[in-house]
Parts: sequence; C-alpha cells; structure tokens
Amino acid sequence: MKPNKYSPAHKSDNLAELVCSNSFKSISEDKASGILKLEMLELDSLIIKSALRSKIPAGGALAVDREKFSEYVTKNIKNNPLIEIFEEEVLLIPKDLQSPLIIATGPLTSEKFTKSIEEFIGNENLSFYDSISPIVSAESLDNENYFKASRYEDGEGDYINCPLNEKEYNSFYEALINSEKIEFHQFEKPKYFEGCLPIEVMAERGFDTLRFGPMKPVGLLNPKTGKRPFAVIQLRKENSHESMWNIVGFQTKMKIKDQKNVFSIVPALRNAEFLRFGSIHRNTYINSPNTILNTLQSKKNPYIFFAGQITGVEGYSESTAMGLIAGLNSIRVLKKQEPIVFPSTSAIGCLTKYISNSDNKKIDPMNINLGLFEINKPKKNIEKIKKSSKECIIQIKERNQIELDLV
Ligand SMILES: Cc1cc2nc3c(=O)[nH]c(=O)nc-3n(C[C@H](O)[C@H](O)[C@H](O)COP(=O)(O)OP(=O)(O)OC[C@H]3O[C@@H](n4cnc5c(N)ncnc54)[C@H](O)[C@@H]3O)c2cc1C
Repeated sequence: MKPNKYSPAHKSDNLAELVCSNSFKSISEDKASGILKLEMLELDSLIIKSALRSKIPAGGALAVDREKFSEYVTKNIKNNPLIEIFEEEVLLIPKDLQSPLIIATGPLTSEKFTKSIEEFIGNENLSFYDSISPIVSAESLDNENYFKASRYEDGEGDYINCPLNEKEYNSFYEALINSEKIEFHQFEKPKYFEGCLPIEVMAERGFDTLRFGPMKPVGLLNPKTGKRPFAVIQLRKENSHESMWNIVGFQTKMKIKDQKNVFSIVPALRNAEFLRFGSIHRNTYINSPNTILNTLQSKKNPYIFFAGQITGVEGYSESTAMGLIAGLNSIRVLKKQEPIVFPSTSAIGCLTKYISNSDNKKIDPMNINLGLFEINKPKKNIEKIKKSSKECIIQIKERNQIELDLV
C-alpha cells in the first residue's frame, strides 16, 4: 500500500523496508540462522541475494546497508516484466478465487484488512500482540542443579524445575528490578491480562510477588535436599524431542543482554543457551496450527496462502523464508502440481512444521534455531544437520524444476 498509506513503522517508498535493525542475523554455516540463509540462497532467494550484495561488515552477522538493500530489491521487482505493482491498500480477501493469492501484510497489517482476515479465519485465530517467554536449549542446562517433577505429583514429572535459595532469589530479584527494558513504540498500547504480565511488572509489585506467581515453589520438593525450594523457575518442553524448553510465565521486555544476565543467576540456567528470547510487541499474526497447512495454504481455501511474519514466524530471514515457500507453492498450484512440503531435515521445513503443526493448539511466534531440528543434541550434531539440509534442498530444487518443466 506504500507510498499511498504507511503503517506506523514504515517510512520508505521502496519495497523490502527493514523497519528496525539492519541485521539478518548470523550467516555462519554452524548456526541455524546461517543454514536457513544457505537454503534460501540455493533456492535463488532475491532477498538473501540482495542482502549479500548490500552487505556491510558486522562480524558473523549478515548486516546490510538498508537503502542499498531495498533499492536493489525494488529495482529487481520493478524491472521484471511479469510483475505489475498496485500501490493500494487491500481491503478484502476476494471471494471465489480460482487462482493463487498470497497474504503477506506483515506484523502491522492495516486495520481494515485485518478485519477481512479475521472474518476468513475467525477472530479466535488472530493475535495483535505477542507476549513471549524465552526458550533455552536442553543441551545447555546444568543438570546438577535442576530436578524433574510436576507440582503435587510423586516421581519424575514433566517439568524441569530450577530451584533458587533465598540468597539466589534476592540476587535474581535485584538484577531483574535493575535490568534495562525495551521501550514500547508510540503506536504500541498493550493491555496486559493479569494472567500473563511481564515478569518485571510483577516484580515491581513487591519482593514476593513472583514467589506467588511464576516462581511459586508450592507442591515441589527438591529430591536432593528433601525440602521445598525458596523459589522455582519451571521449564516446560517446547517440542517432542525435548531439545527446547520454555521458561514458563516469563514473558519480558528486558533487553537481550539483561535476559542473559538475570537468568544466569539461576544455578540451572548458569550457561543457558537462548534459542528464543522473551519479548512483547505489536504483532498481527495468525494462529497457524489452526489455520494453515505445512504448504502455507490456508485450510479453508487451497488458493489462499499466508506468508511472512503473519504466519507466526519472527524476524526478517524467517519471514522471507515463508515468502519463498508460498511463492514456490503458489506457482505449483497454478500449474496444477502438488504443493511441496519441505521435510523437517531442512531449516525451512522444521520452521514450517513448527508453525503449522496441528498438535500445537496455539503457538507464539518462533525464530529459526537448532532446537527445531528433530535431532538429539543438535549443537553436537551440527555436521549431520548441515548435510541433511543440503541434500534436502537440492532434491527439492531438482524435483521442482523437473515437474514445472513438464507442464
Ligand atoms: C516495530 C517493529 C520492529 C521490528 N524489528 C525487527 C528487527 O529488528 N529485526 C527483525 O528481524 N525483525 C524485526 N521486526 C519484524 C519484521 O518487521 C518482520 O520480520 C518482517 O519485516 C516481516 O516481513 P513481512 O514481509 O511479513 O512484513 P512487512 O515487512 O511488514 O511487509 C508487509 C507490507 O504489507 C503492507 N501492508 C499492510 N497491510 C496492507 C494492506 N491492507 N494492503 C496493502 N499492503 C499492506 C505494509 O505496509 C508492508 O509494506 C520488527 C517489526 C516491527 C513491527
């Protein structure tokens, strides 16, 4: 809809505007984010190619000159004779479609169109803010310092419990209160539910508030001491192969360095590797497990695809990966070919599987990370992951070329 209408965060006339940071995160082959980019490059992603062409030095990260990046993408799109651009706000999802349509209106989808999406998928399937707790990797937890148990139950339960004694809780509380928080943007006005307040807001209400909230120790006995801890942080498994653990009830606006500092005070989380950091921001996104398939087609109408951040992924690279799948599969649908499901041995595949997995009732937005690969100790097995990612993408590329050439 730019330049006729802007969201509160967009300012440039060009396409592919990076509204905040100019970094696409890691380009290292040994990081999940780097593997995702290599897969997209192999599949000829215009966005990743443009990012590489406008790269500026930033250590292991792929940071770009944002003006050059946007200009390069815009030129490529505008000079493509097969693409026609309409600079208009779309108000409605058309009915009775007989050809593919991709909805990629992003985290700040305009209000009127949001209503149309809501009517299409049901208002229970659309969120306007994300309120995210951090996720840590199983590999990085200090197993000497946690115990498994479910509240009020005997035996080894489903939760990992990270106990704190009074002294540790004191230090944790002080660090949390004094941590730096990210300010909300002017256009963000979140209304918190009492049941999911940011931890720092809870902490401001008093020293013991967290001990009666997400850090309550009741119903939990530490088998090593036989006693109830002073406070407990509980971790809930985020995936079936138990490589990712969600810090229960710890949605936060703390800055990333502060999240690392504050949680490192907890003995079990001393060296925790964060697969996702906590956050709270304005974000329009669909509840994908209920609404889309792993081909990114909507469950209600196979001609309607969702792509970008609105699918429940988080970040520039992840969003454009969803654009790539939707683009590729919409051409296949147009040519009456079976849409491709990316296997979960690839970064693209495991991210898509996570957001569309109907075993999950509701998801919070997810970034790419090694925990999504269905393999034990993913960091240790990084070479295996890289190999299967490469094989998988080459196979998909060849299959796609052969099948589309046949049409
Ligand atoms: C304030 C803010 C800061 C962010 N910071 C970062 C960051 O630092 N790093 C990071 O990786 N990610 C960040 N994100 C997330 C990032 O914006 C997304 O990951 C990425 O831009 C999503 O790409 P997209 O194509 O899905 O949506 P967008 O890039 O938002 O593109 C969607 C486009 O659709 C247009 N549009 C919306 N409604 C309509 C309509 N009805 N009709 C026509 N056009 C419409 C919008 O104007 C926009 O141009 C941030 C998001 C926000 C809101």
